[in-house]
Amino acid sequence: MLTTRKFLIGFYLISLIILSSWIWRSGYAKLVSQSNQQLDIFAAHLQSQLQRFNAIPKLLFDQKWVVASLQDPDNRLQQQKTNRYLKHVNNTIGASDTYLIDLNGTTIAANNWRDEQTFIGKNFAFRPYFQQAINGQQGRYFALGTTSGQRGYYFSSPVINADKIIGVVVVKMDLSKIEKEWTGKQAHFMVTDDDNVIFISNTQSWLLHSLTPLSTEQLQKIDRSRRYGDKAIAALNFSGPLEDNPALLQLTTSQSFATNYLSMNKYMPTAGWTVRVFAPLTAIFIDMAIGVVVLSLIFWLLNLRLKLSMHKRQRAKDKELLRIKTKHKLKQEVKRRTADLNSEIIERQKMEQTLRDTQKELIQTAKLAVLGQLSASISHELNNPLAAIRSYADNALVFLQREQYQSTQDNLQRIIHLTERMAKISSQLKFFARKSSGELHPVPLLNVINMAVELVKPQLKSNQVSITLDNGNMDVQVNVDQVQLEQVLVNLLSNAMQAVEDASDKHIHISLCREQEQVIVQVDDSGTGINATNLPQLFDPFFTTKETGLGLGLSISHKIMRNMHGNIKAENRPHYGARFSLTLPIATDLA
Ligand code: ADP
Repeated sequence: MLTTRKFLIGFYLISLIILSSWIWRSGYAKLVSQSNQQLDIFAAHLQSQLQRFNAIPKLLFDQKWVVASLQDPDNRLQQQKTNRYLKHVNNTIGASDTYLIDLNGTTIAANNWRDEQTFIGKNFAFRPYFQQAINGQQGRYFALGTTSGQRGYYFSSPVINADKIIGVVVVKMDLSKIEKEWTGKQAHFMVTDDDNVIFISNTQSWLLHSLTPLSTEQLQKIDRSRRYGDKAIAALNFSGPLEDNPALLQLTTSQSFATNYLSMNKYMPTAGWTVRVFAPLTAIFIDMAIGVVVLSLIFWLLNLRLKLSMHKRQRAKDKELLRIKTKHKLKQEVKRRTADLNSEIIERQKMEQTLRDTQKELIQTAKLAVLGQLSASISHELNNPLAAIRSYADNALVFLQREQYQSTQDNLQRIIHLTERMAKISSQLKFFARKSSGELHPVPLLNVINMAVELVKPQLKSNQVSITLDNGNMDVQVNVDQVQLEQVLVNLLSNAMQAVEDASDKHIHISLCREQEQVIVQVDDSGTGINATNLPQLFDPFFTTKETGLGLGLSISHKIMRNMHGNIKAENRPHYGARFSLTLPIATDLA
């Protein structure tokens, strides 16, 4: 981030330098070309103005009135005529003044003869233009008028008669008229003399000031020439290479305020002066300032954009950090919760195991309780064959002593048969009494029913209850824990047995029927039936209507049936007695 900002600042500084120098160079070049053009126009304008008057004195040099006046200076009439003539000429050419000077330098005729400040009688022998003309040359000179105090350019010419110079004619041009056309321009236009005194300028306050401070000798020389009359020449305090083209100058004012100018100059040898244009550099500086401001603004916006994107990036980073932190926290939390859940699951599993164990215990207990109920009739069932065995054995001994071998063999055969039956009963009891695993295996359903019937048979017999089985021509295998299904059936049969106790017709009927992929075992009895109010709670643990009942038989049977993916249902038969239906999915159909 820091490097990007540093780079931006560096880029800004470089751009600033490049832009500033470009604006400066292009502005400077433009100003040079503009100033040069203006200087040329200004110089040409001056030149054309001067040329307008250049030939005038020459034209006047042999005019008869001019000559006559000089020949007869005391002829007043003649002077009048000449004065009028000069005025006429002066007005026609648009000059400031036109006058005639005798050989002594005294003005004898002038266009302004009527004015208060007339030149007539004034001596101009000290003026260089008089000296030049009297020596036979065309005179040219610029100076402040001694009488009028106005700046003028003097054109002089000798008046010649019979090859002799008899006087001098002078035309004065008003220079302030030239200035007027150049006022209001941004650049400063000026004409300076050899001492760099400003003689013509569109900046009035600069007039008759020297560009740089003058030495005492220079000032004395100017004083002696009386070019500027009594006017004291002050200095403007320009610094820089004044005569270079172009040049950069600086004007320092008394308040130490400096202004910069581009200077262009041109020397006009015929007029004996230098034409100058000073163009202020302010426009370039303003352009540069605008450039700097615009560039700074652009970079400021860029910086702002950079800051914004940096801020955005930082925010995104913070967000990402927060997301990672939250994710980590969440992970930890999930881990912790999972650990909690795992320990809870383990706890639950333990509890379930305990519950299963308890249920198994309960099933076993209930089974043993049923066995207890059956025990009396079972022991009776075992005692009877025992007694029979005893009597068959005794008889067999008697038959043996009598050597009745066939009868002995018959008795022994009966004993064998009885012991086999006793063994069968005991094995059935053993099978029923053992703890079941709870695992499901395919078992022939009829086998299980027959085993259960066999178990309760002794009791049925002693209670004189008849039992019938209708297998519905079905021989199917069911996926069950055989011992547990036997237990359910024994429960139902012993409950039915108890229900029919007081009935006149004590009968139990077992029937099988099929319903799609399920087999239904119905145990019907001819008993009292179930009280309608008891029906909803019949399968609740410890619900019993019997004095010595535990109320566990049906609830355990319900549980066992559920474990074997089956169901148990209780209802009353249409006329009398109850019906208990067991539903089980068929594993294989053997029929
Ligand atoms: P218990 O036999 O110890 O009472 P069970 O759970 O086996 O416990 O039976 C609960 C109750 O259901 C019995 O007390 C009885 O009221 C009713 N019951 C069960 N079988 C029959 C039936 N065949 N006929 C009428 N009522 C029955």
